[in-house]
Amino acid sequence: MKLLVATGTGHSPRTDPDNDLPLPGELLLPAEQCDRPHCFCRREFVSVTTHERTTHARVAELDITPEQVRAIVVDYVVAIFDDADTDDIDDYVRCVTEPAEDWPVGTVIERWGYELRDIADNNLADDDA
Ligand SMILES: [Zn+2]
Repeated sequence: MKLLVATGTGHSPRTDPDNDLPLPGELLLPAEQCDRPHCFCRREFVSVTTHERTTHARVAELDITPEQVRAIVVDYVVAIFDDADTDDIDDYVRCVTEPAEDWPVGTVIERWGYELRDIADNNLADDDA
């Protein structure tokens, strides 16, 4: 199935310089957004294994079953909440699986809130097309 993985690029300005980027290939999900309008969390992805943050995510076809994804998500939810509530697990499974669904494998994407875009696209293109 298609999932988002770390690229090794996309260091977040918000990340503590002593923190590392997720290693390439680490499974990512969009970071939780807070209410502060200019906070960088809306641009970030977080690794389900190391919890490191990055602003780039690559769409990869992984040989992984939905059951394995769920097991990874359970570990992540327990690490965050100290507890594995079924609704939280369902929500986070969607956060892990849905963002990659509409993108070709290999695309490197970034996010702005709930919007995802190919980093190769110029989002400031002229509109006189
Ligand atoms: Zn924030």
